[in-house]
Amino acid sequence: MIEQKLNEFFGDAESTGFGTGWWSGILSAFFGFLSFGAVLCLHFPQLLSSPELRPHYPMHTMRVLIQCLIVAAIFFGVISSILRKKKILALTGMLLAIAATALGGSSVPINETPRGGLGIGLDWFLLDMFLMALIYVPLERLWPQYPEQGTFRNQWTLDVVYFMSTHLPLQILSFLVLLPATQATKYIGVPVLQELIARTPWLLQFFLAVVVADVAEYFIHLALHKVPFLWRFHAVHHSSKALDWIAGSRSHFVDDTLVRGFILVPLMLGFSQTIILAYLIFVTLHATWTHCNFGPNAKWLEKFLVMPRYHHWHHTSQKEGIDKNFAIHFPWIDKIFGTYYYPETWPERYGLDGEEIAPDFFRQTIDPFTGRKRTS
Ligand SMILES: [Zn+2]
Ligand SMILES: [Zn+2]
Repeated sequence: MIEQKLNEFFGDAESTGFGTGWWSGILSAFFGFLSFGAVLCLHFPQLLSSPELRPHYPMHTMRVLIQCLIVAAIFFGVISSILRKKKILALTGMLLAIAATALGGSSVPINETPRGGLGIGLDWFLLDMFLMALIYVPLERLWPQYPEQGTFRNQWTLDVVYFMSTHLPLQILSFLVLLPATQATKYIGVPVLQELIARTPWLLQFFLAVVVADVAEYFIHLALHKVPFLWRFHAVHHSSKALDWIAGSRSHFVDDTLVRGFILVPLMLGFSQTIILAYLIFVTLHATWTHCNFGPNAKWLEKFLVMPRYHHWHHTSQKEGIDKNFAIHFPWIDKIFGTYYYPETWPERYGLDGEEIAPDFFRQTIDPFTGRKRTS
C-alpha cells in the first residue's frame, strides 16, 4: 500500500535508464535524506546515535561527508530537474538538503555529553544503508542477472523496514550488540585453545574462524528448515520472490538471534575478539553479497566460496533446490553433508513452496509465535 503510494508519488511512466534524470533524481533524494538524518543525529546525539559507535566516529571526516552529501543532493537534484519532466524526486532531494543546511548543516556543534542516552541507532542505519547501497546497487545495475528486476522492485519497502528493524533498535538486536557479547571470550574461552590459535598467522586464524562459523551456521540453518516451529520464523527470510542486496535483510529477529548465537558461542571458545570482529564484518558483507542480483560468475572461485548463484538456489521454490545449500560461506560444507545442489543455470522462481505468509512486517513478526496462517 505505502509502496504503491510512493511509486505513484515519485515515479512516472518514463524510462529509468541512465541519462533520463531518473538516477540523478534517486541520488538526490537519497543523499538529501541521508544528510538530513545525519544533521538530526548531530543535533540529538543522545537520542539518535548509538552509544557503541559514538566514541569511535572520526568527527572531522563525518562532517566533511555530511557536507559532501548536501552538495551532492543539490547537484544531482539540478541535473535531474533539467533532464526529467517529473521533478518530485529532485525537489525532495534538494528540499531535504536545504533543510539540513538550514538546521546548521555539517557544522552543528555537539553539546551533549557523549555518554548514555536512549541510543536509537539512526546513525548506524544511515551509515550502513549508505555503505551497502554504495557497494551493491551499482554492481546490481551494471551486471544484473535479472535486468528487468529494478532496484525498487516489489516489496522493497518491506525490506527497508527489516533493514531499519535491525539497525534502529541497536541496543536490543543488532550487530554491535554482539560486541559486548564478544567480551564473553574472557569467560567461556578455553585458554589452551585460544593460545594455540593465537600462535598461528592472522590470516589462518581468520580462515579457521570462518570455517567454524559456517559449520555452526550449517546446523542451526538445517534446524531452522527441518524443525516445523523454527521454520515458521525462517520462512520469513524465504518469502522474498526476488532477491537483491536488501532482500537478505528480511529475517525474523528470532531467526537472526538464533543464528548469531550459534555462530558466536563456538567462536568465543577459541578466537580473539579482533578475529570475531573481523568475522562479523566479513559475514555482513558476504551474506549481503550472496543475495545480490548479480550475474557474473568466477568459475574458479565458485567451488570454494559461496557466490550469489549458489545462495539463490537456496532461495528457489523449485523442488530440486528445496533444503539445499545451507552453508553461507563454503559450498564444500554442503558437499560433505550431502545437501549440495549447484547446476550451471540460475533458478527460475524464488520464494516459498506452496506456503503463504502475511505480507506486512507486523504480522510477519507476530504470526510465527502464534502459528497463525495467512488468511487474506
Ligand atoms: Zn534457509
Ligand atoms: Zn538468504
